[in-house]
Amino acid sequence: MKEAAEETTQATIQSRNPATGDLLGDVPVMDEAEVRQRVQRARKGFESWSALTLSERLRRLGRLQDVLARDSRSIAGRIAAETGKPRHEALVTEVTATCDLIRTLRRTAPGILRARPVGTGFLKTKRAWKAYEPVGVVGVISPWNYPFTLSMAPVVTALAAGNTVVLKPSEVTPLVGQVIEDAFSSAGFPEGTLEVVTGAGGTGAALVGSSVDMIHFTGSTATGRRILAAAADSLTPVVMELGGKDPMIVCEDADLERAANGAVWAGFSNSGQICMSVERVYVPSPIHDEFVERVVARTRELRQGPELGDGNIDIGAMIAPSQIGIVEEHVEDAVGRGARVETGGVRRGDLAGDFFEPTVLTGVDHDMRIMREETFGPVLPIMRVRDEREAIRLANDTPYGLTASVWTRDKAKGRRIAAELRAGSVLINDHITAYGITELPFGGVGDSGFGRVHGPEGLLEFVEVKSYVEDRLGLPSEPFWFPGFDDPLELFARINGFLYRARWTDRIRSLFGSDR
Ligand code: NAD
Repeated sequence: MKEAAEETTQATIQSRNPATGDLLGDVPVMDEAEVRQRVQRARKGFESWSALTLSERLRRLGRLQDVLARDSRSIAGRIAAETGKPRHEALVTEVTATCDLIRTLRRTAPGILRARPVGTGFLKTKRAWKAYEPVGVVGVISPWNYPFTLSMAPVVTALAAGNTVVLKPSEVTPLVGQVIEDAFSSAGFPEGTLEVVTGAGGTGAALVGSSVDMIHFTGSTATGRRILAAAADSLTPVVMELGGKDPMIVCEDADLERAANGAVWAGFSNSGQICMSVERVYVPSPIHDEFVERVVARTRELRQGPELGDGNIDIGAMIAPSQIGIVEEHVEDAVGRGARVETGGVRRGDLAGDFFEPTVLTGVDHDMRIMREETFGPVLPIMRVRDEREAIRLANDTPYGLTASVWTRDKAKGRRIAAELRAGSVLINDHITAYGITELPFGGVGDSGFGRVHGPEGLLEFVEVKSYVEDRLGLPSEPFWFPGFDDPLELFARINGFLYRARWTDRIRSLFGSDR
């Protein structure tokens, strides 16, 4: 069992493979002084990194992309060892996702970050433009479920924008911090461009309380609230990528085979430890039984366990030891209130690591925790509903709003329902992949947070917009600089009328003072 990632002494955190219990290594728990020192290094690094041209920064990130692609097998292996997820899954969802984001940034950042002229309105004698400048040193705090890509996405985006970064990876997967440091060092990045600090919540809090210029946080809503409160004191800007309780709506006309396969994939990938996994399913009565039958059959075929060399598993371990307890509580609560376990429902007693059987529940309703709170585990609760209207109402009955999906053969209906769902991303006949499209902004509404990663909006999170105004004529003075003539009020009122009255006749009349 992974007792890992607990603070075994005051000074270090041990990390174990949650699928086997093997000890992998340890990292120091850094205190406030050490965090301050790393922030200072990043501050120093900022001087040289921000002075590079954008194309030079992107060229260096291209080198990093090349290293990640070259070393993808070993990087995926190291991530898989610390998370217990299948290596092929680690490769695609963590390494490929990061390479693709860097490639997207290299192609799109010059257009997004280019200075732009803007109109000057009634001030025709001015020239104005806006330009983007880096924020400074960015603190990135990341979770354990995708420890590599959810660290790298904000890191490489912040770097592209000209910032330097101090990263605090999760204490559950601290060695991934070393994987990231190794990649940066192979790609030749100098000290101070990316600094990694290790430790648990206290180290994260020290980073928030340091002099960083911005915090990018990905994690639970509860921690997000604490960080937001702490950042208020110093007015440190924050981006919050928080939890979710994603609904999936299966319409009566859906392709049931695809919908069932999609539910199983999006509910059980990464053992359900995905912020945008399917956490609840709504199915109208006429197709409910057939849908459940297909989901259960597919679920029973899944291969779960530690990856022992041949790569033939579909589902790995629960990454954080505490998460398996939450999943058990949610299933017990649901069963206690009348839900039925169609398959799974318990932790795997036959395996040494932390595994929870992929579980399908029916007979669920919104009084149950499983339909209201984030479970973050391999459980698919399927609720029978009267019709699509009821499904939409229940899907929106949540404080979260990360992603949602609707499954139908009718594209127009799919788009109509998608528009009614309250979420940062909505997918039609698919789930999860919104995050995989790195040109598409990703983030939440409500308790799922604010701010975006990916896309132009994700890059613009990491810059200050600076506005420039330049006078064009160079007159000795301007008419409204303490006008020395009589009755300036009347003159300005006539000009105002000329500029802004709705009808042309009124505009001409106001110039002569006769429009009242
Ligand atoms: P968590 O909130 O427990 O921890 C996240 C990070 O915050 C860790 O590095 C932790 O050490 C740090 N931290 C804890 N207390 C802190 C404090 N007081 N100050 C500063 N830092 C502190 O989250 P987790 O359990 O690691 O991750 C799972 C959660 O993350 C789930 O809720 C999931 O939905 C969410 N998540 C969201 C997204 C997204 O993009 N919206 C992506 C992945 C995960």
